[in-house]
Amino acid sequence: HAKLQHRGALVCFDADMAQRSRHHAELLERLTAAFNDKQLFLVYQPQIDLESGAVIGLEALLRWRREDGQMVPPDRFIPVAEQSGLIDSLGLWVFKTACHDMQRLIAAGLAPKLMAVNVSVAQFKNPAFVGQIEQALLDSGLAANRVELEITESVAALGHGVVEPLLQRLRRLGFSVAIDDFGTGYSSLAYLERLPLDRIKIDREFVSQLQQGQEARIAALIAQLGAKLGLRVLAEGIEDAAVWRKLQAIGCHEGQGFHIAKPMPFDDLPAWLREWNTRAHG
Ligand code: C2E
Ligand code: MG
Ligand code: MG
Ligand code: MG
Repeated sequence: HAKLQHRGALVCFDADMAQRSRHHAELLERLTAAFNDKQLFLVYQPQIDLESGAVIGLEALLRWRREDGQMVPPDRFIPVAEQSGLIDSLGLWVFKTACHDMQRLIAAGLAPKLMAVNVSVAQFKNPAFVGQIEQALLDSGLAANRVELEITESVAALGHGVVEPLLQRLRRLGFSVAIDDFGTGYSSLAYLERLPLDRIKIDREFVSQLQQGQEARIAALIAQLGAKLGLRVLAEGIEDAAVWRKLQAIGCHEGQGFHIAKPMPFDDLPAWLREWNTRAHG
């Protein structure tokens, strides 16, 4: 009996896997078409100094609106792009578009210090990556010190001998580097301590603990860690004013979240920035 059950489970497992890989292939096909048909676009979320309220950066976030109007969340389609190699051209397009938009904001006298661009570990694996973004930056005319690259702890999987020289190259070019979703990965502290970084981003998960009145221990520990390592610390996912204040109390100086602004299309940025800058904050 047990054997039969076991075989039954195996059959289910196989069918499930086959279905998932078909689904994956379909999604990849639609994503590739969407990319070619220019159905992908960027939205930008402001990052602020929690003390003064000043806008210090913008994070570029990728969006896919299907022809039927449905939005496909990046958490669903980015992994598909990563597994297929499409991420190389997609990521480069994101980088170029963000630099171009940053230049437009500079020209309008509205640009904050930094444009933050998410970079996936899969892009890091591409030996052409650094050369490509260096060229794209040159083409845009933007200074490298206006761009921050956000990577996740999963870069640890590439091994220190690969990651450290890569980050050093990027920082020599003038880019700053942030660790995104900090605290959710599996990298050791010893590993991160050795990486040349500028900023830590506290994952939303730990920020929302502040909201629910839970103990702020993890967020506070990350803020202290950042201070010890001489890194700036930014909290993601600030959804109300109380969390904003709690973050300041635990020594976190920067943040972003729906309470400040949701990610918005480029065309909405100038009005939002003007409006925000004329109000008093902090
Ligand atoms: P992430 O880089 O950690 O981006 C932060 C995510 O939190 C964004 O989700 C943002 O919309 C969301 N968020 C910001 N503030 C709040 C808040 O107050 N409350 C809540 N509930 N959410 C908030 P989004 O845009 O869906 O992106 C999800 C993830 O997809 C990103 O996480 C990033 O890992 C990935 N991603 C997005 N765009 C790109 C890209 O251009 N390249 C790469 N490689 N990954 C990207
Ligand atoms: Mg990010
Ligand atoms: Mg994040
Ligand atoms: Mg994330």
